[in-house]
Amino acid sequence: VAKRLEKFKTTIFTQISTLAVKHGAINLGQGFPNFDGPEFVKEAAIQAIRDGKNQYARGYGVPDLNIAIAERFKKDTGLDVDPEKEVTVTSGCTEAIAATMLGLINPGDGVILFAPFYDSYEATLSMAGAKVKSITLRPPDFAVPIEELRSTISKNTRAILLNTPHNPTGKMFTREELNTIASLCIENDVLVFTDEVYDKLAFDMEHISLASLPGMFERTVTMNSLGKTFSLTGWKIGWAIAPPHLTWGVRQAHAFLTFATSNANQWAAAVALRAPDSYFVDLKRDYLAKRAILVEGLNAVGFKVFPSSGTYFVVVDHTPFGHENDVAFCEYLIKEVGVAAIPTSVFYLNPEEGKNLVRFTFCKDEETLRAAVERMKEKL
Ligand code: GLN
Repeated sequence: VAKRLEKFKTTIFTQISTLAVKHGAINLGQGFPNFDGPEFVKEAAIQAIRDGKNQYARGYGVPDLNIAIAERFKKDTGLDVDPEKEVTVTSGCTEAIAATMLGLINPGDGVILFAPFYDSYEATLSMAGAKVKSITLRPPDFAVPIEELRSTISKNTRAILLNTPHNPTGKMFTREELNTIASLCIENDVLVFTDEVYDKLAFDMEHISLASLPGMFERTVTMNSLGKTFSLTGWKIGWAIAPPHLTWGVRQAHAFLTFATSNANQWAAAVALRAPDSYFVDLKRDYLAKRAILVEGLNAVGFKVFPSSGTYFVVVDHTPFGHENDVAFCEYLIKEVGVAAIPTSVFYLNPEEGKNLVRFTFCKDEETLRAAVERMKEKL
């Protein structure tokens, strides 16, 4: 394996899902729903296949999807973006992340992450040759340590990458935090890459897109996808929204990474994004019920549970159960209890910082969540 990828092992999601299957554990690890996406979206994809949308799509997105993404963004943020010049469709947000790093970061450029961070950020930054620094968000509230951020930004800092609502903690960046980050970025001429794939799973706070703050659109790449909002994680339809001078870099990388993504699924994605408001209201209502079951259950089992305001994840402190670290705890949980969760230490530059925390997902039907809680009550 190439040196730039040497330190990365098989992704933790693959490791845990494989182990969960092997031991018949209920999988509250990898974040994929165990229920299907909506019928009207699946029908639209089937129709698109029948209509012959089966050859390469236009590289930066089928026109109708670029338009639907721009319309959705306008509804959500009030910003008018040009679907032709400022929207790029990618193979999931994961590819948008890779294309952004590879298209806009030069070897040696400094990029700041907030730990814990989604694993692909560090790996793609490593492919781009970036110098990665991280700022740790700490429990119980995972607030941004502003002074630390201020002192970490240097002349070499090219970009900050942030994720709100935040995987794995469920933290949502507050307006105050985003305002401060925005002014630091403007002051120091730094770009921001924002991963907002959980924006429709914002429960206790309003989701704010950094791009919508004054002066920020021109220095922000906003990334999102269809997977979480429509329970279609396997479709891999994502996008990046950015002003033309940044879109150019993203598209240059995208053109040589995947060129284009699934044609038929893009036509269906356009239909999905035009769903009536009631779809999004119902989605949130269903997830609130699931969150309540899991959070109450984890508290009853005896974990220290940290509040999750958004995403479909919740992070707990496992130390009441006396295991050495997060990895040892998760192995025990899978093998002896029959429940899978994700150890968080891989989401830090310094794994020590995550050793007390594990992540559970509640993107499962209520019966599955209850069964997992029962197993833990009995066997932990
Ligand atoms: N985003 C999903 C999660 O955090 C995992 C995606 C993946 O397996 N790479 O669980």
